[in-house]
Amino acid sequence: MRIGLDVDGVLADLVGMIIKIYREETGLSIDRSHITEWEFWKKLSMTRQQFISLLIKAWERWEEVEPVEDDLAEDVEDLSKIGRVDILTQRPAATIVNVKKWLKRHNVRYSSFTWVPLKMSKADIFYDVYIDDSPRLAEKLSLTDRTLLLYEQPWNINVKTRKNVIRVKSLDEAVQLLNDVL
Ligand SMILES: [Mg+2]
Repeated sequence: MRIGLDVDGVLADLVGMIIKIYREETGLSIDRSHITEWEFWKKLSMTRQQFISLLIKAWERWEEVEPVEDDLAEDVEDLSKIGRVDILTQRPAATIVNVKKWLKRHNVRYSSFTWVPLKMSKADIFYDVYIDDSPRLAEKLSLTDRTLLLYEQPWNINVKTRKNVIRVKSLDEAVQLLNDVL
């Protein structure tokens, strides 16, 4: 089994970092529970380009990016007992080096690091199982026979689950589900 594991929103709390920088720059606080849209930056009157710059800035401060869960290393290790775990991440190229440093710092072990440029879709890269928080990927994969374990976040709460799009609240739950399938 090949498992494609997302970084932002699943392993790394990028949104937390974005909220922090946004507060520093504008003095305005965003409550994460209010981020109920994937393209929430539109609500903040940001252009896509401004948002991408903010992403890059957030990952320049990679040492401050918090993990989503405390026991990441262990959870990913458990996943790798079930299948081959690749990091599957879509992001600006300028952030890759810092993301790799972050993964190393948090002892996240993986087989390979697959980068998906912003203009592509992760669905174009074949995995048996994707662990991801993207509502867009949920839409794309729902039409396939591949499985998405949708990592629950406020911005995907409205995604309809189905046979191959299953909501998980933690990596532990993802491990359990995959173990049950085997
Ligand atoms: Mg993500």
